[in-house]
Formats: sequence, C-alpha cells, structure tokens
Amino acid sequence: MENRSKYYLVAIMNKTKKKISLVELDEKTRWFMGQCRQSGLKVTPQRIAIYRELLKTDEHPSAEMLYEKVKTIFPSISLDTVNRTLLMLNEIGAAFTVEGSGDAKRFDGGLREHQHFKCVKCKRIIDFHHKPFDNIKLPAEISKKFTVLRKTVYLEGLCDLCR
Ligand SMILES: [Zn+2]
Ligand SMILES: [Zn+2]
Repeated sequence: MENRSKYYLVAIMNKTKKKISLVELDEKTRWFMGQCRQSGLKVTPQRIAIYRELLKTDEHPSAEMLYEKVKTIFPSISLDTVNRTLLMLNEIGAAFTVEGSGDAKRFDGGLREHQHFKCVKCKRIIDFHHKPFDNIKLPAEISKKFTVLRKTVYLEGLCDLCR
C-alpha cells in the first residue's frame, strides 16, 4: 500500500512538473560528465546546460524548444550545437528520442522507467508508468534474429483536454 500511494503521487506530480531535486540533478550531471570523459568527449558548460535543461522539464522538448531555453544562459549558442549535443546525448545513453512520426524529434532525459502518451492534436507528450509495460516479452522471431537494445510502449491519441 505504501508503495502504491507513492506511485500515484509521482504520477500526479509528473502531470504538472517533473519531480527532480537539486541533489538528483547534480548527481545526474556528475554521471553525465563521467560518461563524456569515458567516451572521450569534451565536457563543456553548454553541453551540461543542455543536459540539465532536458532533465528539468517533462515537456519532452524538441531541439528548438531546448535551444530557446539554453539561449537565455548562453546567448551565442547555435541551434546546430543543440542538435549535435542531443545526438551525442543519445549516443552515450543520456537521452533518447520519443517515438512518433511527422513532427520534430522530441527528447527525454530518461530519468526513470516510464512510457509515453502523445496527443495527436496538441502534441503534448505525457509520461505515465505502467509496471507491466517495463518488461514486455519479445516474440521468438525477433529475439532469435535480432539484439534488442530498448523496448518501449508508446501510445497515441487525444488527451483529456482535446477529446
Ligand atoms: Zn491534446
Ligand atoms: Zn518521458
């Protein structure tokens, strides 16, 4: 029961603002810097700022949305730098793109296991967490032939505000 109520609390908070403490933010930043060094990548203040902005929001921002935010800290940063940094974050496993097609790529800092619901009308991407979705069994035809690195459940439809 204890765990269950905690889960609901997180679910409610996710709807409004991402629950990330400053401690967690700093921990993830340190982890990120370590990942960069391990991969032989330079740790720049701009890269750190982009990563931290991604962690702080639950909007699943596009490169443009992140660019607007980081520009307030680094006015001379270019959209290209943001794009390349996001690509790099993907490669080292510090971020991933949210599925869905047709629109600009949207990103997630991947703080904790969760799934996405995307509204096709207002384009909001809403986090939810349904435990059985964390461990979906692969069909044999796939697991025999391929190495699966990531499994995800992605739902699309109309949100509560648009239906
Ligand atoms: Zn909507
Ligand atoms: Zn998400």
